[in-house]
Amino acid sequence: MRINRKIKTDVLVVGSGLAGIKVAKELADQHHEVLMATKMKLASGSSFYPLKASLGTQVTKDGSDKPVFMADIETASRGMHRQDLAEVYVEEIAERVQEYGDIGVISKKLEGERKACFAEHPRDIYLLSNWDGIRENVTEIFGGYEKLNVMERTVVISLIQQEERVVGALLLDRDNEVIVVECKAVVLATGGFGSLYKHNLNPNDVDGSGHVLALEAGASLVNMEFIQFIPGITTPRYKTLFGEHTLMYCRDIVKDSGESLLDPVLPEGLSRKECLEIRSGHGPFTDSLESKWVDIAMMKEIIRTRSEQGFELLYDPELYENDEEFYTVYLNWLEQNGIHLVGDEVRIAPFAHASNGGVYIDPDGRSGVPGLYAIGELSCNIEGANRLGGNSTGACMVFGKRAAADCSRYMQEVEPYEIGLETAELQLNRLFNKKGKCTDAEAVHEAVDKVREILWYAGNVVRSEQQLLAAIEEINALENGLDLAHFFKQQATRKLAIKAKNFLKLSQLLLQAMLERKESRGAHYREDHPQEKPEFAKRLFIKETKPGTLSFEFLNQ
Ligand SMILES: Cc1cc2nc3c(=O)[nH]c(=O)nc-3n(C[C@H](O)[C@H](O)[C@H](O)COP(=O)(O)OP(=O)(O)OC[C@H]3O[C@@H](n4cnc5c(N)ncnc54)[C@H](O)[C@@H]3O)c2cc1C
Repeated sequence: MRINRKIKTDVLVVGSGLAGIKVAKELADQHHEVLMATKMKLASGSSFYPLKASLGTQVTKDGSDKPVFMADIETASRGMHRQDLAEVYVEEIAERVQEYGDIGVISKKLEGERKACFAEHPRDIYLLSNWDGIRENVTEIFGGYEKLNVMERTVVISLIQQEERVVGALLLDRDNEVIVVECKAVVLATGGFGSLYKHNLNPNDVDGSGHVLALEAGASLVNMEFIQFIPGITTPRYKTLFGEHTLMYCRDIVKDSGESLLDPVLPEGLSRKECLEIRSGHGPFTDSLESKWVDIAMMKEIIRTRSEQGFELLYDPELYENDEEFYTVYLNWLEQNGIHLVGDEVRIAPFAHASNGGVYIDPDGRSGVPGLYAIGELSCNIEGANRLGGNSTGACMVFGKRAAADCSRYMQEVEPYEIGLETAELQLNRLFNKKGKCTDAEAVHEAVDKVREILWYAGNVVRSEQQLLAAIEEINALENGLDLAHFFKQQATRKLAIKAKNFLKLSQLLLQAMLERKESRGAHYREDHPQEKPEFAKRLFIKETKPGTLSFEFLNQ
């Protein structure tokens, strides 16, 4: 395949969520030439997803809160957090939230203090909202920099290295043309991988492609088995955000037959009311609390019946008498969306939400591969087996700033590398290292859908060796059947071929990580290993040792 276009820049920033915008602006302020490539439009990803009205950032209150905040992170993480990154966050977040305005992000500090999800102590929360307004602001701010260019609807498909150092990348532009970028450094800010799951609460551009780019360049992925699942509404409006706080007023969750879903699974001594009350205090599923039975019961029944319709919630009408803002704002918003929790048949099921794991980085966002940085949800950051609410947005700001400062220093030390077009073409040819026979484009679409379905069933809240092994086998068979290189050669199906390649690779990796962790901890629950085990109090590191071969190792790092 011929490549006709080459772009030279100092640094390539991949992704235009909160992390990408922060790092790009910081690098532009340091007078570097910045190219931002983003899969959709500027200011996209989970950061600016229209499905939700606002995002919170949790902020250290004052000096005396620092050890308390650290203790909150440690308690929630079940020993899986990064102490060094958490210390940096707790120290720097109060300053970083003051910089939201500089990047066009509209934020306001909430009155009083609140406990974020999984936090044991209340602290300051900043609320971000108005995604269209933010997009306008970012466009205007970026427009003021001569050397900051944005390529929308452009996908980064591979990183180019010279003696391990990242010196460039291959992109597919909006017309699916391949472009070579020559640069001194790449900052990946590609977000999580929620859309790899059939039912998820992420936009479609959050698909884990940055994880594959980093892995293939030699970086490690860690904590990948800790994925947040939160209940989402399936009926009457699919994919509507569910306010778990309303479960305080829920009498029961029932199956199609009208029988209680919870009663048969509750351990002795835990009442349905108690279980639902605890569940009303946190969004994502966790094995760490007794409320786990709500999500486990749902997923067990889904696996048994293969029905994805969800389960009906039976609410006490008193719910609508609570006039606290927390309730009225949500219930009014639901009503504007045509949903009444008491009057309608409202059903929920577990949806994939955010990833706690990702690329292993140091406190300056370095991935261990020279010239390659990873920030935002893509990185394995301060969170561990559970993630405190409101720390992901904050981490984009804290580590976006630090990565920019380090990258700026790095770029002063290295010379640009001239990438020959033949080298780039060779790399393109190596992108697909497995070759099946099927050349029917419909089969690729079907394989992508199938991967998402397999993952939703086998890699959801309830996991077991039997399910995981069967899922890996099914995905292997899908991969071995397709001739993806054939689809990549054709301009029209190029992005589809890349998506299928990434989905197949990442889903196998996730299922294998879930298989390796033979215990239950935080967001990871194994039906066949229901206890948290001290010997697994280590992080699981994943590396690609040679193209297509992965290693999994538990390490105390
Ligand atoms: C419904 C919901 C509610 C949430 N609530 C909160 C909250 O209240 N507080 C909190 O702290 N966190 C919350 N989170 C998590 C938080 O929103 C995300 O972790 C954070 O915004 C991620 O920002 P990011 O910049 O890392 O990635 P994203 O905002 O997801 O951006 C990723 C970017 O990368 C681009 N991209 C991906 N792959 C490629 C590629 N190969 N080439 C080019 N571009 C690419 C995408 O198009 C996108 O622009 C929530 C998430 C969701 C989904």
